[in-house]
Amino acid sequence: MPELPEVQTVVTTLRPKVLGRTFHGVISLRRDIVTPAGTDLRARLEGRSVRAIERRGKRIIFTLDDDNRFYIHLGMTGQLAVVSAGAPLPPHTHLELDLGDERLRFRDPRRFGGVWWLGAGATDDGMGPEPLDLRAAELRRRLGRTTRAIKNALLDQRVVAGLGNIYIDEALHAARIHPLTPAHRLAPEAVGRLSRAIKSTLNRAIRHRGSTLRDYVDADGAAGGFQRLHRVYDRAGRPCHRCRTPIERIVLGGRSTHFCPACQPAPRGRRAPRGT
Ligand SMILES: [Zn+2]
Repeated sequence: MPELPEVQTVVTTLRPKVLGRTFHGVISLRRDIVTPAGTDLRARLEGRSVRAIERRGKRIIFTLDDDNRFYIHLGMTGQLAVVSAGAPLPPHTHLELDLGDERLRFRDPRRFGGVWWLGAGATDDGMGPEPLDLRAAELRRRLGRTTRAIKNALLDQRVVAGLGNIYIDEALHAARIHPLTPAHRLAPEAVGRLSRAIKSTLNRAIRHRGSTLRDYVDADGAAGGFQRLHRVYDRAGRPCHRCRTPIERIVLGGRSTHFCPACQPAPRGRRAPRGT
């Protein structure tokens, strides 16, 4: 599922293709992917040009020349592509915008993504800070307020925006923190390591254009390369790059969680459930 590095890569690859261009019309639209329901996207978009494309958390925010905004969330399988007007239409294309000789297409087979019309409203609605700008002291304050397992706390977009399963597992391994450690019990020094690990993991992933596990591609149609550099994610049973201990996998809050039981010792008084 696309997380911050993948969404950032989509934004970076979309900008040269879409910035400054005009939506001549909405060619096709599946209405139930638009929130709020009933928004007349055709009337809102036709004749408008794109002034900015930015990422906030996992959202791709478009600012139009009339200052209205909307965002696209890629959900689990969403893709945005700019293709020539005559390109064959792939299945599950839910939105097609006319750019003149080209089309901006949003497709999303599993339909967890969609289009959210913001108008002149705020883009944030309770979303936490961006992890690449977040100071360790602020992260410590936010984690100190919750007794949840650190993995679950970091999945919560209100605590920190943009992180998901892959990069949390990778950052916790880099910081040598067990995913079940209660967030409020992390020592200041551990939160400092975690803060640095989150930033370095995300920045490396952005440099490698994100991770492609199944269907993620950027706006050029290119897959990411960071999956080859994962240290724990999707590596259950294979040796830890640091200590050769086999990586373990547990299910936490319905999500696969990967860690090294030697580098990331279980928190005291809390035995890790056995791998599944
Ligand atoms: Zn290890």
